[in-house]
Amino acid sequence: MALAPVSYTARADIGHFIAGQAVNGQGERRQAVYNPATGEVARHVRLAAEADVHAAVAAAATAFPAWAETPPLRRARILNAFLGLLNQHKDTLAAMITAEHGKVFTDAQGEVTRGIEIVEFACGAPQLLKSDFTDQVGTGIDNWTLRQPLGVVAGITPFNFPCMVPMWMFPVALACGNTFVLKPSERDPSPSLFIAELLKQAGLPDGVFNVVQGDKLAVDALLNHPEVKAVSFVGSTPIAQYIYETGAKNGKRVQALGGAKNHMVVMPDADVEQAVDALIGAAYGSAGERCMAISVAVLVGDVADKIVPKLAERAKALKVMNGLELAAEMGPIVTREARDRIEGYVALGVEEGAQLVVDGRGLTVPGHETGFWTGGTLFDHVTPQMRIYQEEIFGPVLACVRVKDFAEALQLVNEHVYGNGVACFTSDGNIAREFGRRVQAGMVGINVPIPVPMAWHGFGGWKKSLFGDMHAYGEEGVRFYTKQKSIMQRWPASIAKGAEFVMPTAK
Ligand code: NAD
Repeated sequence: MALAPVSYTARADIGHFIAGQAVNGQGERRQAVYNPATGEVARHVRLAAEADVHAAVAAAATAFPAWAETPPLRRARILNAFLGLLNQHKDTLAAMITAEHGKVFTDAQGEVTRGIEIVEFACGAPQLLKSDFTDQVGTGIDNWTLRQPLGVVAGITPFNFPCMVPMWMFPVALACGNTFVLKPSERDPSPSLFIAELLKQAGLPDGVFNVVQGDKLAVDALLNHPEVKAVSFVGSTPIAQYIYETGAKNGKRVQALGGAKNHMVVMPDADVEQAVDALIGAAYGSAGERCMAISVAVLVGDVADKIVPKLAERAKALKVMNGLELAAEMGPIVTREARDRIEGYVALGVEEGAQLVVDGRGLTVPGHETGFWTGGTLFDHVTPQMRIYQEEIFGPVLACVRVKDFAEALQLVNEHVYGNGVACFTSDGNIAREFGRRVQAGMVGINVPIPVPMAWHGFGGWKKSLFGDMHAYGEEGVRFYTKQKSIMQRWPASIAKGAEFVMPTAK
């Protein structure tokens, strides 16, 4: 049974949102946006020219002084009105995501909910921006710190979370008093415009939040614009590194979150059924197109022989269908190119000598023969020398690596170039503790396969999974989007006579 369609005005052509208006802009180029379940072109997105980026940055720069001066409580009230609208329209947003990304509707609802949580966090702006104050650092002198907004900041986001990832960025940036230019993925651009409209309805002044659709040209225009003070990026590692290096060279603050190869270690004492459930959901949910998907199962000792047959049975039985079908467990891949790239990796794994236990290639879904389908793939006996182990595949492909003990499992995880999420399934408290303390990754789950941190804890990986110093959202997000100022003050009655030539110390 299919879900009742949620109505929204799907535009034939997706343009930009600048200074409070939906505009087509000056760029002549357009790119097709697909319905991945049917393979049909659903609409087109306009790709910004440099002039469009300049117009969006100019609108944000014009709006900045007044927005920065707006008391945090009033900024929070607008975010609170936006929160109400998001809750009202969350199924509409989820349907938009499914229509262009392909993920199943309930998964898209989960994405919207995780985005909403960041807006809830950002509604605490007055508390988040409350400064530290020290009375009497010296006789008659006080010292306090302010956190002030940076100015115009930009966000560049990936296709796999067209709603949640922008919401990792702009609610916190706006709460802190910055104005924002979002450059969403050109593969699923519709949610960004809907979000812009909801922000306007919530009372956000024109120019505080802008959207430019586009590709590398738009990204480079943002990276080179002197008025853009900070850039948040989420996407693949090569582009993250490029964004970090170019932005930093241009004097900007940059936070660039990259790709991943997330391991889940299964210890011999783990509950096998729980570990299998976790691996199936975390490897094949959202067709593996999650930066926190588990793509490597590290099976310790004799647990491998118990787990691999169960994984195979479950991977073969996955219900792969249009994401709007209630029974769907896995939807299509976002584009034909992405599907072909994933299936190319499966062929590579076979060439490299891994054991192909379940082959998801060549799947067709009745009634949707032209969609971008691939089924769940399972490899066993994968080794660290293989490219299917080393590289991010970003699809429903799970690689099992067999190791002899915990020490070997930990070493394997720690030697990988990526360090985004990682999990360990065990019932041994000491193993859990050692794993948490020693593992080289930014986000750790103990018997939790996808440990995406809550809104107030901040999200980010280590090693090639993040370029920059601070994690997204949470308190690190507040620090990223503000600069610290220290003020030291005294009044004439407490100033001693005479010039002082020695380094001032507390008196
Ligand atoms: P991508 O790197 O292709 O694109 C991300 C953004 O960069 C898009 O807005 C795109 O338009 C832009 N872009 C693409 N090529 C560019 C270029 N040459 N120069 C400048 N900008 C360019 O990533 P994607 O395919 O949209 O998303 C999937 C990737 O994102 C995966 O690698 C996944 O692991 C990663 N990701 C990471 C996280 C995280 O938190 N670490 C979260 C989600 C996704």
